[in-house]
Amino acid sequence: EELGSDVEIEAEIDEDAEDGLLGGLKIETTADIEIPDRLVDQVIGQDHARDVVMKAAKQRRHVMMIGTPGTGKSMLAKAMSQLLPKEDLQDVLVYHNPDDGNEPKVRTVPGGKGQQIIEAHKEEAQKRNQMRQFLMWIIIAIVLGYSFLIAGQILLGGVLAVLIYLAFKYSSRSTDAMIPNLLIDSSDTQTAPFKDATGAHAGALLGDVRHDPFQSGGMETPSHDRVESGAIHEANKGVLFVDEMNTLDIRSQQKLMTAIQEGEFSITGQSERSSGAMVQTEPVPTDFIMIAAGNLDAMENMHPALRSRIKGYGYEVYMDDTIEDEPEMRRKYARFVAQEVDKDGRLPHFTREAMEEMILEAQRRAGRKGHLTLKMRDLGGLVRVAGDIARAEDKEFTEREDVLQAKRRSRSIEQQLADNYIERRKDYELSVSEGDVVGRVNGLAVMGDDSGIVLPVMAEVTPSQGPGGVIATGKLQEIAEEAVQNVSAIIKKFSDENISEKDIHIQFVQTGQQGVDGDSASITVATAVISALENAPVKQNIAMTGSLSVRGDVLPVGGVTHKIEAAAKTGYDTVIIPAANEQDVMIEDEYKDQIEIVPVNHISEVLEVALAGEGEADGLVDRLKSITGQALDRQGQV
Ligand code: ADP
Repeated sequence: EELGSDVEIEAEIDEDAEDGLLGGLKIETTADIEIPDRLVDQVIGQDHARDVVMKAAKQRRHVMMIGTPGTGKSMLAKAMSQLLPKEDLQDVLVYHNPDDGNEPKVRTVPGGKGQQIIEAHKEEAQKRNQMRQFLMWIIIAIVLGYSFLIAGQILLGGVLAVLIYLAFKYSSRSTDAMIPNLLIDSSDTQTAPFKDATGAHAGALLGDVRHDPFQSGGMETPSHDRVESGAIHEANKGVLFVDEMNTLDIRSQQKLMTAIQEGEFSITGQSERSSGAMVQTEPVPTDFIMIAAGNLDAMENMHPALRSRIKGYGYEVYMDDTIEDEPEMRRKYARFVAQEVDKDGRLPHFTREAMEEMILEAQRRAGRKGHLTLKMRDLGGLVRVAGDIARAEDKEFTEREDVLQAKRRSRSIEQQLADNYIERRKDYELSVSEGDVVGRVNGLAVMGDDSGIVLPVMAEVTPSQGPGGVIATGKLQEIAEEAVQNVSAIIKKFSDENISEKDIHIQFVQTGQQGVDGDSASITVATAVISALENAPVKQNIAMTGSLSVRGDVLPVGGVTHKIEAAAKTGYDTVIIPAANEQDVMIEDEYKDQIEIVPVNHISEVLEVALAGEGEADGLVDRLKSITGQALDRQGQV
């Protein structure tokens, strides 16, 4: 069996242009790209997960998929259902049980047979009804004839005729009740079922028996007709997919496990006080392959017995977030655009330039040099927004300009919030981007996944009453302490001041931030503290991000692209980043002229750039260099 990863895209390739953004594809628009039939061949990247799915489909094993949302977990689960033999499909019928109306009988027949059986039953019932009706009219005729002609009792005759009519109607209901309920009908399905039970309530997952308001007196719906299937029954012989497994309540998880173990599960009413709760069917088959998905957290919080069941009888795979950026992969990303256009059905195809812009965006979103993002759902969202923009303008094709506009429009909540902050801060002039200030440094942080914000830090040093300490507010205490601890070794050697007799107050000017990454603020905190200790002013038109080792090396951090863009938007001239992150910088063209990026390796370089007041600052920097230099040498000897 051929793997999806081997499916090359069907188009001519220009070998000389292989390193182009489209990997040498010789096409004009996405309309020229052929899309593979099987879903499993449409999956981009995720080679490992795909191999596992194909293997698990053959061996009928359960799979646990761990990874970021939108990387193809449910797509792969669906793809798996297409790989399962559809010859195995079954129909399930629920019959009235004459011995006990509350225990309907369950019969399983080969797929497609169910409807035939129902038809046969209906015909039978119809015949019987016709027979009965025929009988009824004869009796009515006799009664009427007798009362009119012989007894002369017209009124009595009429009443008797109506009573006979009602008696027949009433008793015919029991003939209808004999028609079974076709619970699972697989006559129309082309592939084995795929059921997504993410966030399903108990009834939707395990099946239910509807309440009957009448319950007796001949008006009731027979119980077998009120039985409804759950996802576990509908997924029989196919795939049951559950994302965010931990959000399923524990009782449901327990029952799910029983269904997996037994391969069958009775249906009963789920709400306790309904008449349905008295009904319990014979077991209904639940022979499905389970694909449980979620992030690592979700997996750790799922019912341990269920988890070990799936693990013990199946596979566990991790989804990749990025993939290496190679010509073949770029061609597949072009095909991805074609796939998404095709799936939507209404979007204009993309031009070469529009496709190239999408691939650039995939590079940018990877946040890692030489990689493409695999967060395909978001990327697909961008395809749709861009296509919609082009469609709204009645364009024949979606063009580069539409993709650019879509990028501006489809910003995440975090990005919108972050921009909002930046705007507000500009209004209130909270972020000073002019002049020099002692103890104040413009740090940068990431909010959410993809939005940078400016996070100014202020440090003040005061003589301590007792032993000195680091003082910060709230949640920031931890971040500040860690940052100060990392730099204290350097500061101790560097400063004439005895830091242990001082209190260092650290304030993050903009508090209440979620998701601020403490480590990436450590060169900011260090610079602020050194500035405060030495009374050396810091240039305010500079922003910075970087982590710090105890030896003064500036270490790489995450989200540099977003941070730089935030700094540019806020209006700073210069941004300091770790040299090790230089390759991760993929800022939009519009920012390139707005801001100068200074990569640094060592805290002394940070100070060299950030401290104002030439002479004095130089002295400090030299001293720092010499001291950390010694520190480095000593380290080297150990
Ligand atoms: P998940 O289940 O991991 O949250 P989905 O499988 O629901 O993600 O992905 C949503 C959509 O994004 C898919 O229907 C598909 O269009 C696209 N998609 C996601 N991952 C991939 C992938 N690896 N290759 C191609 N398309 C993908």
